[in-house]
Amino acid sequence: MPDALSRREFLGVTGAVVAAGHLAPPETLAAPALILRPASRPMAVSSLNGLRGINLAMEMVQRGSDTLDAAVEAVKIQELDPEDQSVGYGGLPNEDGVVQLDASCMHGPTRRAGAVGALENIKTPSAVARLVLKYTNHIMLVGEGAKRFAISYGFKEEDLLTPSSRELWLRWRANRGATDDWLDVPAGEKMVERPTGTINFNIVDGKGDISSVTTTSGLAWKIPGRVGDSPIVGAGQYTDNEIGAAGSTGRGESNIMVCGGFLTVEFMRQGMSPTDACLATLKRVVAMTPDRLMLPDGTPNFGLTFYAVNKKGEAGAASMRPTRYAVFDGKEAVARDTAYLYPRAK
Ligand code: ASP
Repeated sequence: MPDALSRREFLGVTGAVVAAGHLAPPETLAAPALILRPASRPMAVSSLNGLRGINLAMEMVQRGSDTLDAAVEAVKIQELDPEDQSVGYGGLPNEDGVVQLDASCMHGPTRRAGAVGALENIKTPSAVARLVLKYTNHIMLVGEGAKRFAISYGFKEEDLLTPSSRELWLRWRANRGATDDWLDVPAGEKMVERPTGTINFNIVDGKGDISSVTTTSGLAWKIPGRVGDSPIVGAGQYTDNEIGAAGSTGRGESNIMVCGGFLTVEFMRQGMSPTDACLATLKRVVAMTPDRLMLPDGTPNFGLTFYAVNKKGEAGAASMRPTRYAVFDGKEAVARDTAYLYPRAK
């Protein structure tokens, strides 16, 4: 295996080399003796909060790390950062004030997946999802069972609610209804809109091996027990080592309805570029959107973004309305504008 890989990398040649005797008649041509795959361009693409992660992950794969390990280390930066209130520690809680985390991952070369849903008190659900992938016969663990599984591997139980996430939650609870017993936040004081966020991370190395990870605290103030698209393999992220990887951030329920991670990879399999594949998936989302989620102008009232990379190392992203994403430019992570279906809402 290492020999085969290093020879492939060394040759770095595109296309198939057919070792057929040139004097043989066509009908007796020997089967290809050696098929050389193109060397891939190492590449990573993610939601905008993955800028720091891309730099770390690309350094790791260039030093020989596996793509899944690199992707998990990349998203852990956000999971451990209390300032990122969409992911891991410091993530915004559910309507009871409890932080419940979702994550999933796929490893292209071994065709394996792992996921956790509604995981409480563990800062890095992506690393727990990777353990499900590596050490179990299952794909998804949820709730209390997922927590016990994490603790069995030495993860520490911790309070994930930071003072600033608690304050946002308390303000939301105070203003939730006009007739309840919670006094409203005084007029003029800042109230946040319902914030959204997640990190999706897709990466291919120079050998063409691909992995993807998505991790989130999910929709702020969600109904306890709700899991979104992020831990759903085929929705929040998906990898096929022959084709590429894709994943999403934004309204999870709308993504689940089209299996968006999987669908985007399938569009790439049909020959679409990563950006076109993301746009095609968004069009399918719109086609599946019920009227109650449409604005008066007939466009969806929610945000959703897809990110994709193919085996050659081409990457792209597209969203309902213009936003930014993070991508490796050959030297370092940069922010770029996504393609989009509709102009920014007025
Ligand atoms: N996709 C996440 C979820 O639905 C939320 C987000 O990305 O904003 O849980």
